Amino acid sequence: MADPTGFLKHTRAEAPKRPVAERLGDWHEVYAPLDAAERESQVRTQATRCMDCGIPFCHSGTAGCPLGNLIPEWNDLVRRGDWWQASERLHATNNFPEFTGRLCPAPCEAACVLAITPDAGGAVAIKRVEQTIADVSWDNGAVKPRPSTVSSGRKVAVVGSGPAGLAAAQQLTRAGHTVTVYERDDRLGGLLRYGIPEFKMEKAVLDRRLNQLREEGTKFVTGCEVGGTKPGDLSVEQLRANYDAVILAVGALRGRDDRETPGRELAGVHLAMEHLVPANRACEGDGPSPIDAAGKHVVIIGGGDTGADCLGTAHRQGAASVVQLDQYPQPPSQRDAERSPWPVWPWILRSYPAHEEGGERKFAVAVQRFVGDENGHVKAIELRRVRVEKDPATGRRVVVPTSEEIETIPADLVLLAIGFEGVEHMPLLDGLGIELTRRGTISCGSDWQTEAPGVFVCGDAHRGASLVVWAIAEGRSVARAVDAFLTGSSDLPAPVIPN
Ligand code: SF4
Repeated sequence: MADPTGFLKHTRAEAPKRPVAERLGDWHEVYAPLDAAERESQVRTQATRCMDCGIPFCHSGTAGCPLGNLIPEWNDLVRRGDWWQASERLHATNNFPEFTGRLCPAPCEAACVLAITPDAGGAVAIKRVEQTIADVSWDNGAVKPRPSTVSSGRKVAVVGSGPAGLAAAQQLTRAGHTVTVYERDDRLGGLLRYGIPEFKMEKAVLDRRLNQLREEGTKFVTGCEVGGTKPGDLSVEQLRANYDAVILAVGALRGRDDRETPGRELAGVHLAMEHLVPANRACEGDGPSPIDAAGKHVVIIGGGDTGADCLGTAHRQGAASVVQLDQYPQPPSQRDAERSPWPVWPWILRSYPAHEEGGERKFAVAVQRFVGDENGHVKAIELRRVRVEKDPATGRRVVVPTSEEIETIPADLVLLAIGFEGVEHMPLLDGLGIELTRRGTISCGSDWQTEAPGVFVCGDAHRGASLVVWAIAEGRSVARAVDAFLTGSSDLPAPVIPN
């Protein structure tokens, strides 16, 4: 039984971070490593703040955790120091809590009763508790391979090794199917590998989980484009002939560009992923990044997760200055940003650890022109103050200038972190006869099956660019659908339904 007054005795405390100067000198995670006793003591205190609400909004599928994480249960187990059972209950709904504990912006915390109650001291630190349970579980040997004891004799191909594909693969392997994950890159993990910087999640965290999947029997093939024609690729015909079901977990990596702004063609103006991928590759030992911020005046356009990833990366590369631009006004508080309706402040306009590390944020501005030098390289950006409105006729977001005045700021590396437009074009979709929706995603029926029979979809490829927690939730759900498709019924969980 939880202590219903715990939140009156203890204040919310974030996980301690390493000093800025120290963390800018390396690529390790920003949070300070604590010794085991101190870590467990601090987090038990935080878990004590949970009231075990009769209606726990934190794990509701609409406002809280899409995975339906059993948050009050594991909060109480942590409060009592039962880390083993807490791990069991956490892994009952989440294949990869060490990913969500590090990367998810925690809709559960925004939905926590203590977050929406004035003067309650803020939400329970759910994300911190989740990450700590996961890390303690790994440290204590509680996370073990769970291979299936049965074999269905059915074969499933998963295309894409991001969180959605991995979650689907693990669920189906454990259900007794023979699962092969195909990844076109040279290493596994998708965005977890080459999109997320080390300082948010070290790749060792990903690798130890991949090893668990391997030991359970999931097979992996890297450097293979399904539907491609290069040596080592897998043709659509081979895919269809060799597998009883296919899951498309190919992500939504087509970056939104800014083609209409004059000067976009200048050298030095890049999509965010053109900066983040080689930076991550450099951390993997693949050699220096060709798009390096060292000594440069960097301007990041976009104030969301990806913009913050570019910010932290640019500082660690030794940028001379970093300015981050946003069309939205500066919210008076994080709380206002999360509660105000679109389009005043989007919920993504939040602060990240990278914002503590330096740089300037400019709000309510839009780029008018990229200015080049005599060599065709960007050297400055012209800005104008703007307001974001909703067009009453179309309901669409419009950006309205509020001043004639032009501000010019230096820029010799510009990074466009303004979102993603959907699934990249790939021969696989043509070969399967699948067309993208107007949103650039892959549609499916209520059973997650696309217009191609026996081909299913999950994650960003279906939903559009979203949170890691939604990717895992969709991966788990599509696994149930595929299991039922192959065997006629399924006992696997399905935390979400297709949107
Ligand atoms: Fe605990 Fe907050 Fe969930 Fe209530 S809503 S059960 S206080 S985490």
